[in-house]
Amino acid sequence: MLRRTNLAAYISLTCPHLNLASTIKMTSNGIVAIQGETRVHLDPKRAIDNGITFVSHAHVDHLHNQNGGLLLTSRQTSEIAKIRGYQIQSYLEEYENYSMIDSGHILGAKGLLFGDDVFYTGDICIRGRAFMKGARVPRCKTLITECTFGMPEYVFPRIDETVEKVNAIISEMYAKGKPVILLGYELGKAQILSYLFSHWQPYYHDSVKRINDVYRSFGVEIKNSMGHTEAEKAGLLDKKPWVMIAPNLSGKNNFVQHMKSKYDAITIGFSGWAQSSRFAFARGHDYSIALSDHCDYDELVELVKQCSPEKIYTVHGFVEEFAADLSKMGYDAQPLQESSLDDYL
Ligand SMILES: [Zn+2]
Repeated sequence: MLRRTNLAAYISLTCPHLNLASTIKMTSNGIVAIQGETRVHLDPKRAIDNGITFVSHAHVDHLHNQNGGLLLTSRQTSEIAKIRGYQIQSYLEEYENYSMIDSGHILGAKGLLFGDDVFYTGDICIRGRAFMKGARVPRCKTLITECTFGMPEYVFPRIDETVEKVNAIISEMYAKGKPVILLGYELGKAQILSYLFSHWQPYYHDSVKRINDVYRSFGVEIKNSMGHTEAEKAGLLDKKPWVMIAPNLSGKNNFVQHMKSKYDAITIGFSGWAQSSRFAFARGHDYSIALSDHCDYDELVELVKQCSPEKIYTVHGFVEEFAADLSKMGYDAQPLQESSLDDYL
């Protein structure tokens, strides 16, 4: 049986400006907006050889080798994608009535405003932090928003409080002669950490150093420093204490274990998930700190207010919960979910 919410996702919306109808739907390959004859694929999971594909940013869950069709993405995203081994032959940064808007998530991350009507946020953060400016938020009629942290328990502390807290931990460890490893995603979080804690003159994990170099090539003032392989070979890691910025991926756990057993290093993990004790994040590190490249709950609500949309679709994260909260606030909101109706469109 079809759910009412799924049926409503197929209601066509008229855009008076261009007189084009937009239909938004979730497919097995991600979000598709249909505008007249044109299909706009918003961060599809797999490459598509027709219509318009929008790639919001260079986190790997959004990247694929280009396979025809028109690609909209930023220069920064295309450069980072190439460095990460993806093939992009050609792309556009603007096209007709499609405009990309800074989403404040990572370097080059964008949202897409099209038809003067629909705004797709991609991953978004409206809070400025270190060198990253918060997202620019347009008014729109239809908002498709991520809601990774769309539950009220996820309200993050201010960035200056976070920096103060981490500096105090590092100082305490330094007094004991212990090295400290700051762990965050190698693309995005690690660059914020590199910038915020540059006064400790940290070493970088080689993968972080590689991305820091790309950021620097785009004018971001992240200090250059030695990669961990070179530092270890030169015997510099034996001279404790020190600080290092490293990726927080499960596959790299051997690296962290090596650093802990050989150098008695302390780990501090950085993630929005550190805000909740319901998730295992906090248990994997000596310290865990809430720091995210996404909006927290209050910021998501603020984002919606600023967009002032007539219709909201929630995607990624707490889609049911956040849509329910928005409905209570008087908005017309629903999760965008896959439907068996796809076959009939
Ligand atoms: Zn992302």
